[in-house]
Parts: sequence; C-alpha cells; structure tokens
Amino acid sequence: MPFSDFLGNPATVHDLREMLVRKRFPHAVILSGAHGSGKYTLALMLTRALNCLEQPVSDGLPDFCGRCANCTRIGQAEDLDARFAEAVEARDALREADKKETRILVQTHPDVLVIPPDPPQMMIKVDQVRHVIGNIYFRPAEARERVYIFTDSSFMKEAANSLLKVLEEPPEFATIFLLAENTGELLPTIRSRSVNFALSAVPSKEIESVLAKRRPDWNPREQALVARLSEGAIGRALSFDLKTYTTARSQALVLLNSALRGGEHTELFKMTESFRPGAEGREKIDNLLRTLHSLLEDLMFLESGAPQLVRNTDIQGELKKLAESTDFAWISRAAQGLAEVERGMRRNLLRSLSLDAFATALERPS
Ligand SMILES: [Zn+2]
Repeated sequence: MPFSDFLGNPATVHDLREMLVRKRFPHAVILSGAHGSGKYTLALMLTRALNCLEQPVSDGLPDFCGRCANCTRIGQAEDLDARFAEAVEARDALREADKKETRILVQTHPDVLVIPPDPPQMMIKVDQVRHVIGNIYFRPAEARERVYIFTDSSFMKEAANSLLKVLEEPPEFATIFLLAENTGELLPTIRSRSVNFALSAVPSKEIESVLAKRRPDWNPREQALVARLSEGAIGRALSFDLKTYTTARSQALVLLNSALRGGEHTELFKMTESFRPGAEGREKIDNLLRTLHSLLEDLMFLESGAPQLVRNTDIQGELKKLAESTDFAWISRAAQGLAEVERGMRRNLLRSLSLDAFATALERPS
C-alpha cells in the first residue's frame, strides 16, 4: 500500500516524504489529528518507506513497495485493534505474578515497536518506555532505522520524563513517532524536541467521493450522511457503523417527538424499556445520547438559519418539521437536560428511568 493510497492532507505527506529524500528524517515526529484522521496509517507508511528493501520512487519521492520482507512484516501491524487485542489476551493468560510485570506492546518486525496505551488505565506507562530504552541504542538488525510508534499522547508522568531523556540524546538510527489527538497532553519539553505535523480535516465532498469508491454498499444519500458525520476523519468514515447509527437515530427521534408532542408516551416507554442493563445496554444508550446531541445541534443550525451545516442531511425534511415546533430556549434546555442524563448515568442511576424523566422534562408547557 504505497503513499498514493493515503487519503487527504497531500501537502503534509509531501513534506514528510521530502525529508526522506534528504535522509534527514527527524528523530522525533509528532503526528497530530482527530481520531480517524490517519495518524497511525501514515506512521506505518513512513516506517515502511524508511526500511523498504526495494526503495521505489513515485512522483520523484521515496515510496515503499509493500511486498519486501520488511514492508510485509511492518504491514502486519496495520490492524492495530486486532494486534492490541491479541497482546491483551496474551497478558490475561499469564500467571498473576507475571501479569503485573508485562506491558502491552505490538511488535511484528524486530526493529519496529508499536506502543499503545496500557489498559486498564489506557495510558503509556514507564515500563513501556523502559522497554524502548532497553533496545533503542542497539543498531537495527534487519532494518535501516529502528522505529517506535507511541499511538497515544497520554503518558504517566514518570513515563513522559523517561521519554524526554531519550529525546535529549536520541541514537542516530532511531525514529520515534508520537501520535496525538491533542498535542497539549505532551510535555512542552517533548514537543520542543519533536517536529510536529498536523493532519487536518478532509472536506466532506472529498470523503464522499472516497466512499463512493470504497463503500458501494451504501447509496449516495448514505455516503453523503457518513461523510458529514465523520467530521473530516477519513478513517472514521470508512469504518462508520451506519446501521448502529440509524437505529440510535430513530430512537432519538422517538424521544424528541414524544417530548415535543407531550402527553402520550407509550412509544417512548416501549423504546426505553428495551434498554437492558449491562454492557450492551450501556453501549446502546451511549449511542442514543451521542445521536441526540447531533440532532439537537442540527435543530440549532436550522433554528439559526444555517441549514447548510446540518449533518443529518438525509432526514432534513423531518428535522425541519421538528424545528418548527421548537425554539432556541427549548433546544438549549434539551441540551442541558441531556448533559444531566449523562451525569446521572455516570453515577449509575437507573438508565431507562433517567431517560424517561429527561423526555417528560422536555415537554412543552401546554
Ligand atoms: Zn518494501
């Protein structure tokens, strides 16, 4: 999978590849951008370009073949969720005593190490950084460049300080990628020793045309909807769970309609009753609340005369009808009520009850 397969941010990709030409690739690179913007995909592409045995050139810039022994093995780390799950499962199978000592790492090539946040805290821990320090000063065995990819920017304090020591004196033959949704989480001293590249949001028209090719199972209306909902993050668009979203959205509409009509709540109670306790119900309700947020935002856009910003484009007619019976005050009251439901859920109040209460609280005084 060469660089031409990377979607969006062509100027940034170009700049990074130019540094490969000059053989002056920085020792520490921060790739920042929203969840799903392609940070990890790009880091793995650059890792292959740094180490490809064929060293092909495209558009006058270094590329990678995707087929040689180095490219193949590095590429095996591409499905990060799957590799991460395997590592966690392997640790769970260990004896209690060993479990505590074992940190989650993903390694598919002897010279390339992927460091994801370690559960259950989901932060980078000092033992993970110690593991990096343990081998970063040895020359690479089969690659030209040792590569370390930290997939998250939330470091435990001690871990961040250890990483800083490495960045103060990095070995000649190593490159560290730091992936960050929010670079503000990284120590200023780490940021100042790294070169920062930001992956910005891809325009939704562009995402739409990618989806037209990659997701022919969605009709154009659905493609347009997903392009809007993914907020410029191409990875989020490609892996979007449309079925879950539309299910949650029809429930959210039941709730909003019921609140706006007032009085009759049979449909609403039937719906909230279907939310069972446990992980599955929790996920269902999280989806519902997220979707409610996006619908309320769309109603706000309609209310303020900005229909071009509406994201749920495929149900614009229905939203307009809803907007006619709402006003700013009601929408902001609804948004506040929603925040209250979320707080209640964190305190583990009975879920369906707090949703019912939310809906009845939103009734318009008749
Ligand atoms: Zn290769």
